[in-house]
Amino acid sequence: MREIVTLIKKGQVVAFCGAGLSVESGIPACRGTGGLWEKYNPELYATIEGLTSLFIFQPHKLRDFIIDCYGVFLKAEPNHGHFALKDLEEKGYLSGIITQNIDDFHFQAGSKKVSEVHGNAYKFRCSKCGFFLKKKKEEVEDLLKDLQAAKKRKQILKNILHFMGRCPRCNQRLESGIVFFGQSLPQEEIEKSYHFLDRAKTVLCVGASGEVYPAASFPLYAKERGAKVININPQESSFDAISDFVSRKTAVDFFKNLLLSF
Ligand SMILES: [Zn+2]
Repeated sequence: MREIVTLIKKGQVVAFCGAGLSVESGIPACRGTGGLWEKYNPELYATIEGLTSLFIFQPHKLRDFIIDCYGVFLKAEPNHGHFALKDLEEKGYLSGIITQNIDDFHFQAGSKKVSEVHGNAYKFRCSKCGFFLKKKKEEVEDLLKDLQAAKKRKQILKNILHFMGRCPRCNQRLESGIVFFGQSLPQEEIEKSYHFLDRAKTVLCVGASGEVYPAASFPLYAKERGAKVININPQESSFDAISDFVSRKTAVDFFKNLLLSF
């Protein structure tokens, strides 16, 4: 732990976060046993084509999926790991967070420099002019209440369309700010990520499996430019091979320990 503390105290640390971090907040990972994709077929529920066909032909299924997923997000909260990363940023050690999670927890914990490479479940954007807005938790809560009460197809569609809303600039219907399968990563988030990585002295991988590309290539990119890699993951991952230090603790335990050693 002493060597890890020394590295972090050198500053220019970039955190690269995956599903494992939010699992401790009660958000199940998408992949693996007990994951979201065991319950919902990702070809249908994680692609624009699939979701569009659900919207048109099986809106009740889409309603249940929205209630299920956003219900989990609304109940869960950032954990000690998210708050520790916020503290490291405030103290000047952490220069940025690159997260694959869409739960908004880094912002809810108070972090400022965050690149959300797979989008954010609360963000909605205009594909025409690039405008985006972020919905409040209360707005999502209202949607879920409306959807729970909606029994008829027409009512479900109306609730969803009303919630998504239109662009205040160009009146185009807003789209989800989540990056679905087959979609390219948002350019501005990628640029932000490389801005962090180009200056990184240390990359702290937190609960990242290393299975989802292109995001999984980021730690190696920094490593090739001289950064040290610390991998925190209770399970083996493809980042073990490129890591200078591996901790098999969970993120929460790791950061509790780190705090004691600081
Ligand atoms: Zn617009």
